[in-house]
Order: sequence, then C-alpha cells, then structure tokens
Amino acid sequence: MPENDIKDMSRRFINFITFIDLPIKKKFRLFSVGVLFWFVMLFVVTMAALLTVDRKTDNIVRNLIPQDRLAQKIARNIQSLNLDALELARTSDLKNALRRIETSKARIEDINAFLSALEAGGKVNDYSRESGKLLETFTTSSVKGDLAGEKYLREMAAVQGVLVKKLQAFVDLKMGNLHDNIQDNGRLDAKLREYQQSLTEALTLSNDYSTSTSLLYAQNAEKINSTVTYTSSTIAVVLVIALLLLGVFTIWISRSIANPVNSIIEQIHALGTGDVDLSKKIAIHSKDEIGILSTEFNGLMESIHGMTTFKKVIEEDDTLEDVYSRLGRVLREQVGIDEFLIYEISLNQNKMNPVYPLLLSDSESFCSPDILDSSELCKAKKTGHAISSLVYPHICKQFQIVEGKEHYCIPMIVGGGTGGVVQLVFDKSDPRYRDQHAIDRKVFKARQYVKESLSVIEAKRLMNTLRDSALKDSLTGLYNRRFLQECTENMVAGVMRRGKNIGLIMCDLDYFKQVNDVYGHNAGDAVLKETSALIRSSVRSSDLVIRFGGEEFLVVLLDTNKDETMKVAEKIRENIQNAKFKVQDGVLKKTISLGVSEFPIDTQLFWQAIKYADVALYKAKETGRNKAIRFTEEMWTGEQF
Ligand code: GH3
Ligand code: MG
Ligand code: MG
Repeated sequence: MPENDIKDMSRRFINFITFIDLPIKKKFRLFSVGVLFWFVMLFVVTMAALLTVDRKTDNIVRNLIPQDRLAQKIARNIQSLNLDALELARTSDLKNALRRIETSKARIEDINAFLSALEAGGKVNDYSRESGKLLETFTTSSVKGDLAGEKYLREMAAVQGVLVKKLQAFVDLKMGNLHDNIQDNGRLDAKLREYQQSLTEALTLSNDYSTSTSLLYAQNAEKINSTVTYTSSTIAVVLVIALLLLGVFTIWISRSIANPVNSIIEQIHALGTGDVDLSKKIAIHSKDEIGILSTEFNGLMESIHGMTTFKKVIEEDDTLEDVYSRLGRVLREQVGIDEFLIYEISLNQNKMNPVYPLLLSDSESFCSPDILDSSELCKAKKTGHAISSLVYPHICKQFQIVEGKEHYCIPMIVGGGTGGVVQLVFDKSDPRYRDQHAIDRKVFKARQYVKESLSVIEAKRLMNTLRDSALKDSLTGLYNRRFLQECTENMVAGVMRRGKNIGLIMCDLDYFKQVNDVYGHNAGDAVLKETSALIRSSVRSSDLVIRFGGEEFLVVLLDTNKDETMKVAEKIRENIQNAKFKVQDGVLKKTISLGVSEFPIDTQLFWQAIKYADVALYKAKETGRNKAIRFTEEMWTGEQF
C-alpha cells in the first residue's frame, strides 16, 4: 500500500476515534455520554462494594454473632450443669439436692430451647437459673445450610439424649441414696463421671462450634475490610482515569473550537485595520461546523482578495476594451460562468454593442438582434434593475429561449445611466447548476465583480468622452485639426508601408459669410452641419473628414491610387451644388471650391501636401469658385511651409 494511503487511512481513523468530524452538538452529546458513563461506573463499583459489605455485615450481625453467643450460652449452661452435678454429689441436704436437680433440668430445657432456636431460628429467652430472672431475649437465625451448624446440632442431639439419661441415672442413684440414707460414694462417683463425660463431650462440641463461628466471623470481618480497601482504590483509579480522559477531551475540544475561531477573529480584526494578508488561509483540521466556517471564511477572503486585485489591475488597464475583457475572464475563471455576454451601451443610449466575448455573428448572442439598435428593448437597460428569468420565467421577450437556459442580466449603472449590461446564462441541464444555491452564489460573486469594475468603467468612459471632446468638433461631430496632428504619424507610416497614397482635398464654401449676414449665425451653423454631413457621405467611412477651420474642411482619403482624388473632389462639389439647404424662409443653394493634392506624389512632407491643397483651393477661388483644382508645381510661389 502506498505511504500516502496509509497516512490518509490513519488520519481518518484518528478523526473517527476523536469524533473530530462530528458536528459540535454531537461532540458535546458524546462528551455528556462519557461523563455519564464514568458516573455510572462509579455508582456500580460503589453499589457492588456496599452490597458486599452489607451482606457480610448482615451475616455477621444476624447469623454469626447470635449463633456464636447461643453456643457460648449452651457451653455456660453445660459448665453450670457440671457445677450442679458436683454440688448434688456432695450434698446430703435433700432440699438442696432437689433444688439442684430442678436447676439442672431447667438448664437442660434452656439448652434444648437454645438448640431448637439454632435449628429453626427465632426468638429465645435466656434466664438466670440461679435467680430465675430473665437475662435477655434475643433473636437468632437458623443454621440451616451452614454445614458446621448442622453438624453441631446433629451431634448435640445425640449427646443430649445420652446426657439426659446419664443425668437421670445419676439423680436416681443420689435420690435413692438420700432416701435410704446410704453412703455409696463409689457408685455415685462412677455415675457422676459418666454424666460428666457426656457434659464434657457436649462442652467440647459447643466450644468447637463457637470457635468455628468466631473464625467465620473473623473471616467475614476480614472480607469487609478488604472489600472496603479494594473499592476505595478502584474508585480512586476510576476517578483518576475519568478525570484524565475528561481533561484531555476538554482541552482537545476547546482547542479544536477555540484555535480556528481565534484565527478567524484575528483575520477579521486585521481586515478592520486594513493590515491583512488576504491570501493567508486558515488551516482546516475537521469537517464539523468549525471546519465549514473556516472553509467559508477562506472562500470569503479569497473572493475579497480576488476582487481587490481585480480592481487594482483594471485601474491600470489602458482601454475600456481591456477592462471588459478582464471582467469577462474573471467571470469565466474566478466565478466559473461559461456563458455570458458583456454589452456596452453607446453614449447617446440608443445602441448596445457586445464587447466581450467578441461575436462573429448576431446569431451567437442570446438575445434578439433588435436590441443592438434600440437598447430600450433590453429590460435590464431600461429598468436599471437586474432581470432574472430564474425568478420570473420568460421575463424578457428579447431573450431567445433555448430549452433549459436561464438568464440573469446585470445592468452596469455608470454616470446615472446604464452604461452596459452583463448577461449571465445558466444551462439548467448542467449538473453544476441544478442547485439553486450554486447559481445564487455565482450570481452574487459576478455582481460583486461587476460592481467593482463600475467605477473604473465610468472613469474610462469619461476619459474617452473628454478625449473625444478634445479631438472632435462639437458642432459637426467631425474630427478637428488636433486629431489629425495626433494620428498623422501612424497614418502616414501605414500608407507608406502599403505603398499607397493619401489624397488631400481642402474644401471651402463659397461666399459663406453671406449666409451669416443674411440669415443669421444659427442658419450659418445649420449649413455648416449639413455641409459636413454631405462631405462625410461623399467619401468612404475609412476616410477622414476634418473640420480644418471655420468653414474649411479637409478630406483625407486613405490608400488612394494616383489621380483618384480629383474624382472624389468633383463628387463633393456636385453633391454640394445639388443640395438644398433649409433656412427659415425656404431653401438655399450653395457651392464649394476644392483644392487637391496627393501625398507622397507632390511632396514627401505630409503637412506640406496639405499646404499644397490649400494653394490649389486658393487657385479655385481665384478662378471663379465652384470648382476643384489639382495642385501643380507652378502654383507654388516659393514661400516656405
Ligand atoms: P469665399 O470663401 O468664397 O471667399 O467667401 P467667404 O464669405 O466664405 O469668405 P470668408 O472666408 O471671408 O468667410 C468665412 C466666414 O465664415 C467668416 C465667418 O464669420 C464664418 N464662420 C466661420 N466659422 C463659422 C461658424 O462656426 N458658424 C458660422 N455661422 N459662421 C462661421
Ligand atoms: Mg468661404
Ligand atoms: Mg474661408
């Protein structure tokens, strides 16, 4: 097995036995179960010990002590019987003898009572047979089941029968002797000794039994002692183990929660002060809520990091196109959206133009091509709100529904209007987008990126407008002389490289001053606007029309062949001649004069060629106006440009 697999397996095993991946709630539940387990353990051990002690004590108190004491009482009675017998043997007083006999019989009854108490258990009275007083009443349990006790009872019963007979024989002889007044010490002594022999047997049995009960008593006491000692140490060990385990678990659980939470707090703190390394990640050790929190937090930091770097980068981008394409790449790579389209809305708000990705044909867009020329048809543009078919199906009529595709259109609000629309498209049949949350997250992220880019887009658009205003003439919308100065170098280099020419036509309206004088300055402005539109429409869109001066226009034809320029100049002249300029009281006819030169045919210097065209124009004016004249060398009178 590869080393990595073993590592992975052992890590998973450790995670399993430490419950690290369990949700916090379950961790604490297990913790409680653990605590309960140790409590139950302690309870069981303690109860078992107490029960053992109780049983032993009970045995001692209820069985052994009373049984031992009864055996001792029996022994005492036997000893007293012996004394009674000796006294009886010695006495010659009949009354004394009768009393002794009486006492002896009572003692034997006592012994019988004690033995039956031992046999059956129960209450028994102990009398002093000297005084006849009740000494005590005590309760004993039966010896049944106790081998020594049963044996004692059996043997005592046998001895008892013999003993009673021998006492009777002894008493009979003594009483006979006393009656007949016979001194027959020899026979009496023999009977006495026989009786005493039985007594001794009974005494030995009783003493032996007493000794064996005492021994049991001692053993039980010993057992109680050892049980208590054993239990105390077990409880101590259990407590130590439980405390150790609980301690370790407490430290581990609090660490596994506290450490990542502290890191998150630190990061948030650092965020507040701006002193944060956004790329710094929180280590993830578990799959519980803390693990999820850390993962989410890392994700959040990553997107903040991504967004801040994104903003910094686009701020340094040169053109608006760069910004759009970077936004597009971020949507694809960081947000993970495959299908989207960024539209730019023109300054006059009418047109919208797909700017990223660049489309090869209208059919590649998700919307009807109508929106391109009238942006008001786009709902996101019109309302300035996000328009989502995920929330309201078929909300926008312009979205050309492809089965299973949904759109989310984000308007880009810049300078108080909608400067563009970012259209996100989700294919619901794509397994990644089955979960609405996944889409919501992507949409949210995309909106953040769009939001971050808005200020940059706005600034760049503003800059473009400012640039336009510096390079364009506000009345006619044509480029101005400054624009020509800026683009000359590139333009000339390109034409030279292609081996082509630049045709230059300098145009000046004839008697334009009169328009102002007769119809007023506003009418003059209108004629100028109309003229510029006429010139513009007379040339290709790749050609430049420049408002060179008050009512002078310079037409720059790119990539011309020799002598082509005159034809274009003639066309312009005709178009102006045929045009009807509207003024308040009707229409006005105007003519135009034009001077033509060609670069680099006439001169290697571009600005000199412009001067030549101007010279030709002067010639046209001089020779009657409403004509186009080609520059020739002899027109140049020598003053230097
Ligand atoms: P010609 O060129 O045929 O010799 O006669 P002209 O009347 O056109 O001659 P000139 O160049 O002397 O007159 C140009 C006039 O154009 C002078 C000026 O008042 C007017 N003009 C220049 N710029 C503007 C403008 O922006 N608006 C208006 N209404 N008039 C302008
Ligand atoms: Mg003029
Ligand atoms: Mg003029």
